[in-house]
Amino acid sequence: MIVNEKEIQAIIKEVILKMHKETESNKEPGIFPEMNQAIEAAVKAQKVLQRLTMDGREKIIQSIRKKIRENAELLAGMGVEETGMGNIPHKILKHQLVAEKTPGTEDIVTTAWSGDRGLTLIEMGPFGVIGAITPCTNPSETVLCNSIGMIAGGNTVVFNPHPAAVKTSNYAVRLVNEASMEAGGPENIAVTVANPTLETGNIMMKHKAIPLIAATGGPGVVTAVLSSGKRGIGAGAGNPPVLVDDTADIKKAARDIVNGCTFDNNLPCIAEKEVVAFSSITDELIHNMLENGCHMISKNQEEELIKLVLPGGKLNRKCVGRSAKAILSMIGAEVPDTVRCIIFEGEKEHPLIAEELMMPILGIVRAKDIEDAIEKAVWLEHGNRHSAHMHSKNVDHLTRFGKAIDTAIFVKNGPSYSALGFGGEGYCTFTIASRTGEGLTSASTFTKRRRCVMSDSLCVR
Ligand code: NAD
Repeated sequence: MIVNEKEIQAIIKEVILKMHKETESNKEPGIFPEMNQAIEAAVKAQKVLQRLTMDGREKIIQSIRKKIRENAELLAGMGVEETGMGNIPHKILKHQLVAEKTPGTEDIVTTAWSGDRGLTLIEMGPFGVIGAITPCTNPSETVLCNSIGMIAGGNTVVFNPHPAAVKTSNYAVRLVNEASMEAGGPENIAVTVANPTLETGNIMMKHKAIPLIAATGGPGVVTAVLSSGKRGIGAGAGNPPVLVDDTADIKKAARDIVNGCTFDNNLPCIAEKEVVAFSSITDELIHNMLENGCHMISKNQEEELIKLVLPGGKLNRKCVGRSAKAILSMIGAEVPDTVRCIIFEGEKEHPLIAEELMMPILGIVRAKDIEDAIEKAVWLEHGNRHSAHMHSKNVDHLTRFGKAIDTAIFVKNGPSYSALGFGGEGYCTFTIASRTGEGLTSASTFTKRRRCVMSDSLCVR
């Protein structure tokens, strides 16, 4: 049988149509083959969301919280399996934290003035559709936390997740949609693409239906978003120092520092990344750190680690989020399972101290007094204005360091994760807008202020 060109084109058209239909019927909720389609769907869903009552919106949030609790173990396992980073028990805790402590619609609070000239309200309205770029270090945690905050603010959200964590991130998007539909909300309340790339991210950043973009990641993505011509929320990199002075409870400081540094194998951007300690207490601090699962490496091992972790000065992603034991075994050093953290002493310029590594390697820098300690810690934070921590009972030292370091997060006398509401007061977020100054984001961050004025009426005082 001879088939002419016209017939071939018709067959191709029919096959494509069939494939489309199949993809549509098999498609997981919220996941699209193409970014423009995803955005269109999110625009439609936002119109539905906007018509819902605040009560209806809160029901969706409650349903998302339930889904996260039910799937915390699964998501933790998926994240570790797909990215090779972090550890399952800590990732379960992170998901539970997102479910319990991410603010919902209660964060949307109206301000009012009333008087002889009437009633004025500041209402927190949605932006519409928000674009969100998410990291591979806390993939589903960030998708779920962003979803709760953005939806509570009345927005729908388009995700462009990190390609290295696409399975886990997109599974979280699917759960958000299932939760929404089960609570009477729209499908596509959160959307994403099956294969996110820098190109799909660019389409999202340039799309006219997206007025606000939240970027959680390293310096590259934050700069890209802030150059997009759109309003951007920039949650960028950190290199949090922890300062220990001679008034600190050294035993507790050592325990808190090791617990904070090793949480999810040091993946959280807020985690202790290096120590600056008064010289007078450094030996005691190291002694207590060794009692808490630290392993002091030799000078030779230090050199081996630099070659492994920063080959050619560039971060080796294969070491990010790995356990201390796994990293040590990569340089041929076998240690017991109880070893949680690798420590050594060095100057602040030491590459394993100055660079943000995101692995349980903690360099210790000696300082002679508070001026010296503050100067070294501020230098190490590199002006990220992200996070810093301190162990001290001297309120003047605490105040001086707090002012000098000027970070979005400053934890005193506790592990870094208490900043996320884990063993500390306050709410949880996995998007800390260090660069653009919103700090720990929540639903209200994802709204715009609208003034509604009723002239000369409705004051009933
Ligand atoms: P990453 O910068 O490699 O990737 C983050 C996201 O940005 C990914 O989705 C990636 O695809 C995208 N991206 C990267 N470069 C881009 C560009 N030029 N244009 C557009 N998109 C781009 O970061 P990661 O390894 O996934 O995460 C770790 C980094 O993120 C660390 O630096 C950490 O401190 C930071 N982080 C910050 C926060 C915060 O709240 N401030 C939270 C988590 C992680």
